[in-house]
Amino acid sequence: MAILETRQLNKHFGGLHVTGNVDFALQPGEMHCLIGPNGAGKSTFFKLILGEHLPDSGEILYDGEEITRAKPFERIRKGISVKFQVPGIFKELSVQQNLTIALQHHVAPEILQEEIDRLLEFLKLSQDRKQLAGNLSHGQKQWLEIGMAVALKPRLLLLDEPTAGMTPDETFATGEMLQELNREGMTLLAVEHDMAFVRQIAHQVTVLHFGKIFAQGTIDEITADERVAAIYLGEVDA
Ligand code: ADP
Ligand code: MG
Repeated sequence: MAILETRQLNKHFGGLHVTGNVDFALQPGEMHCLIGPNGAGKSTFFKLILGEHLPDSGEILYDGEEITRAKPFERIRKGISVKFQVPGIFKELSVQQNLTIALQHHVAPEILQEEIDRLLEFLKLSQDRKQLAGNLSHGQKQWLEIGMAVALKPRLLLLDEPTAGMTPDETFATGEMLQELNREGMTLLAVEHDMAFVRQIAHQVTVLHFGKIFAQGTIDEITADERVAAIYLGEVDA
């Protein structure tokens, strides 16, 4: 059974059909990338999955259970976690303090430090634990945000442009981090523009265009598809 499924999902903003009859299924253990031009509706799709927006019609299922109108905190409690394009870290606090906030109400006090150390090492931020988050490099900030999102070991992680602004080395290291989480059982859905990164991590790719699923397949199938290339050149209309 799919870990996440949408059935005929629709969302309008005024006259704009931003999510158009989207039938989407994500298998447990899959690393899936969502691509598509700016304005295609990728972030909106995430917000529908997380419950930040409610759809006009259609259904969202998680583990076969309908969550279409569940509150965001209920979805988080079921194991869905997210990192959006907008920063979600506390810049005036240290790296360690940020991770403490993410973990403290969820792990026993006697293992809190151990869990923080484990995360710091995983995020390659052990040396920078006392740095203010606001003073980290751009890539390190993104890692800290991923760390905040995975601190509670979600079953399903949504990442909206996780590698935006990263150097190629940082992007590659991010891919390795996500692959490690995937080996531990996490399912991933990521919005991504960097095709090298998509090639590194994605088992499956979905192309969104004007709110609709335009193509789906492996990265090789997607890059070989001339119709997909054409939408990036602005040659395919809604
Ligand atoms: P993407 O993430 O693929 O770039 P978005 O989901 O952010 O696309 O946006 C899809 C379309 O919906 C865009 O045309 C955007 O301007 C519009 N849109 C997004 N959010 C809102 C909103 N809250 N109100 C009105 N229009 C919105
Ligand atoms: Mg977006």
